[in-house]
Amino acid sequence: MLEMRPNCECCDRDLPPDSDQARICTFECTFCADCAETRFSGLCPNCGGELVARPIRPQSKLHRFPASLRRVLKAHAACAGPPPASPPAARWAAP
Ligand SMILES: [Zn+2]
Ligand SMILES: [Zn+2]
Repeated sequence: MLEMRPNCECCDRDLPPDSDQARICTFECTFCADCAETRFSGLCPNCGGELVARPIRPQSKLHRFPASLRRVLKAHAACAGPPPASPPAARWAAP
């Protein structure tokens, strides 16, 4: 059974069990769709495996099979730096 971790381990965004934005690898490293696609190109930065959409867990099952409350957050090379900035000081070059 999946842990259904509650957050993206890169940007710490909440990923509730009914979210369609959660992506997981075979070890259930958990990311949001944005990080999976824009930062990691669909590959898990921890194990190199593919990140796929996590199935939702229906509300009716959550009381018997609750989602994990343990937040996992790690530093990955791809999320360490600031987001790509626009070219600096372009305005100074204008005539
Ligand atoms: Zn994220
Ligand atoms: Zn992984």
